[in-house]
Amino acid sequence: MAKKQFQAESKRLLEMMINSIYTQREIFLRELISNSSDAIDKIYYRALSDDQLVFNKEDYYIKVTADKESRTLTISDTGIGMTQEELENNLGVIAKSGSLAFKKENELKDGHNIIGQFGVGFYSAFMVADVVTVISKPLGSDEAFKWESEGADGYTIEKAEKATVGTDIIMKIKDNTEDDNYDEFLEEYRLRAIIKKYSDFIRYPIKMDVKGQRPKEDAEGEFEEYQEEQTINSMVPIWRKNKSELTDEDYHNFYMEKRYGFDKPLKHVHISADGAVVYNAILFIPEHTPFDYYSKEYEKGLELYSNGVLIMDKCADLLPDYFSFVKGMVDSEDLSLNISREMLQHDRQLKLIAKNIKSKIKSQLQSMLKDEREQYEKFYGSFGRQLKYGVYSDYGANKDVLQDLLLFHSSKEKKLVSLDEYVSRMPEDQKYIYYAAGDSIERIEKLPQTEGVLDKGYEILYFTDDIDEFAIKMIMSYKEKEFRSVSSGDLGIEADEKDKDNKVQDADKELFAAMKELLSGKVKDVKASKRLKSHPVCLSTEGELSIEMEKVLSAMPNSQEVKADKVLEINVNHEVFQALKNAQASDKEKLALYTSLLFNQALLIEGLPLQDPVEFTNDICKIMA
Ligand code: ADP
Ligand code: MG
Repeated sequence: MAKKQFQAESKRLLEMMINSIYTQREIFLRELISNSSDAIDKIYYRALSDDQLVFNKEDYYIKVTADKESRTLTISDTGIGMTQEELENNLGVIAKSGSLAFKKENELKDGHNIIGQFGVGFYSAFMVADVVTVISKPLGSDEAFKWESEGADGYTIEKAEKATVGTDIIMKIKDNTEDDNYDEFLEEYRLRAIIKKYSDFIRYPIKMDVKGQRPKEDAEGEFEEYQEEQTINSMVPIWRKNKSELTDEDYHNFYMEKRYGFDKPLKHVHISADGAVVYNAILFIPEHTPFDYYSKEYEKGLELYSNGVLIMDKCADLLPDYFSFVKGMVDSEDLSLNISREMLQHDRQLKLIAKNIKSKIKSQLQSMLKDEREQYEKFYGSFGRQLKYGVYSDYGANKDVLQDLLLFHSSKEKKLVSLDEYVSRMPEDQKYIYYAAGDSIERIEKLPQTEGVLDKGYEILYFTDDIDEFAIKMIMSYKEKEFRSVSSGDLGIEADEKDKDNKVQDADKELFAAMKELLSGKVKDVKASKRLKSHPVCLSTEGELSIEMEKVLSAMPNSQEVKADKVLEINVNHEVFQALKNAQASDKEKLALYTSLLFNQALLIEGLPLQDPVEFTNDICKIMA
C-alpha cells in the first residue's frame, strides 16, 4: 500500500509540533480526551436537529486503557467518529480543525462546549508515541477505517473492523531513554493524576479499568485481586452549578480537593459574569497565611480553565500582588488561547477579567469589614501586612483601592480600628491623625512622646509593623486629615494655658545651645519639649524620616547610612531641668555628663543602640559615687 505524504508544510509543522510547541509532555492526554469530548458533543448537537437521533447521555463515554506488555495506551470514545475522508483531512492535514469547521457549519455560538479549534492537538500524541493508530467508525456508516503514522514521514489509511461507532486512538508508547521516562504514561496512578489535573470537568465520563486488592469476603485476613471500571473525572464543574444549590461545605470540599490550602477558607466568592466578558470564577480568601507567603517562593495566581479544560495552573495576571493571597479558579470561553493552549494569545479578555475580579475581592473584603468584623480581623491578622505592602509599593498607585481596608491598633479603643472610624470621631480641634511607631503595643504605650497627644484626649494609632509608617507616608492624608507622628517636630497642638508661663528664657537658650554643642553630630537640635508631661527627655524628629524608619532602613541588607534628623527634647517642668541649669552655671564637666546620660536614655527609650554602652554605665556609676 502506497504511503501518502504529509503536505510539505505539514511535515515541517509536525516536527515543530512534536518538539517545541508544548512545554509539558503530559498534555497529550488532555488533547486526546478533549478531542473525544468534542466527538461526543458533535453527536449531541446533531441530535438537537435530527429527530431520528436520540442522545442518551449514559451511552457516551471516553475510556483510557494502558497495557504495559504491549506498551500501548488507548483512548477510546463513543463519539461521532471519522469517515475515510475525514481521517485524511483532519489527521492528514496539520492545522486543519474538523471541530472548528463543525462549529461554523452548525452555527454554534456562545455557550457551546466544543474545545478544538487549532487542528494541532492530536499530533501531541507523537511526543510520547512512536506509532499512532486511529481506528474510527463514523456515525451512520457500516465501514470503519484505520489511519496509522510513525510521525513526520506520512500516514497510511486502510479499511478496518470496528464493532461500534466511535474512535480508538492507540499509541505505541516510546521506550525510555537515558533522559526521558515514558513508562509513566502506562502507569495507572500517573494517568489518573493527569486526567484529574486537566480533564476533571470534561462533561462525559472518563473511565479506566482500575486494579487493586481488597479483603476477601469469606476468608478473614486474606486479600484478593480485583479489577473494576471506574469513572475518574468529576464531570460537573461546581462553578457551573447554581449558587443556590451549593452549600458552604461544597465550596470547602472543592477548596480541599483542589489543594488550594489546608485550612478552612474564611470566605468564598462565586462569580458568574456575563457582561463584557463571560466567565465563571470561584475565589477563596484563606484563613491562614501559607508558610512561604511572605517569601520569594510564594507564587500567586488562579487556575485558568477554558471550557472546563485546565489551561494554566497559576495564572498570575489574574491577581494584583496585593491580593496575592486569593486562591481559586476562573473558567471562560472567551479566551483567545495560543496554539498550545498553554497561554493566552493577547490579554484583552484576561485584563477585563482581572479588573473585574479585583473589584469583586475588594467589595467582598469591604463587606466583611462592615458586617463580619471578627472574620475580617482574622483575615487581617493573616494578610493585613500584604495590604499595607500594597499601599506602599508602586509609589502608592493602589492606595485608593486599599486604604479603607487597613486597620491599626488604637490607643483609645485598645483594638483595631479603621481610618474611617478614627477620622469620624476626631474632636473638632484635632488637626492631624496621630500615630506612634514601635516594636510592640506595650512599648509604644510607654513612649514619652505620646503623653502630650494623649493628654489632649486625642486617639493615637499604634504602628507595630515595619511597613506601617512607609505605607502611611504614601497615603499622606485621609479624608483631608494629614498623618502626624507623635515624634514629629510640629504636633499642631496649642500649648495649654498653664504651660504658657514656661516660655523659654534667654538663659535656657544658652543651656540648650551648650548641650547641642556637646551632642554635635548626634542631634540636630536640643529644645524645650511641648509634648512631655512626666518624662524628662525624649527624641523627636524633623523632616520626613522618622526614627522607626531609620531602624527599618538600616536593618535592610546593603543599607545606606540613613539617619533621621533627631531633636533632643527636654521637659522644662521636670526636676532634671533644674539640675541641668545648675550644672551649666557651675560645672561644665557635669553638664557634659548629664547631657550624655540624657541623650543615651532617649536612645534607649526609642530602642536605638547606644554608641558606647560601657561609657553609659560608667557615667551612671560616676553619679552614684
Ligand atoms: P482540534 O481539536 O483543535 O480541531 P486536533 O488536531 O486535536 O485539532 O484534531 C483535529 C481534528 O481531528 C478535530 O478537529 C476533529 O475533527 C478530528 N478528530 C480528532 N480526534 C477525534 C476523535 N476522537 N473523534 C472524532 N474526530 C476527531
Ligand atoms: Mg483537539
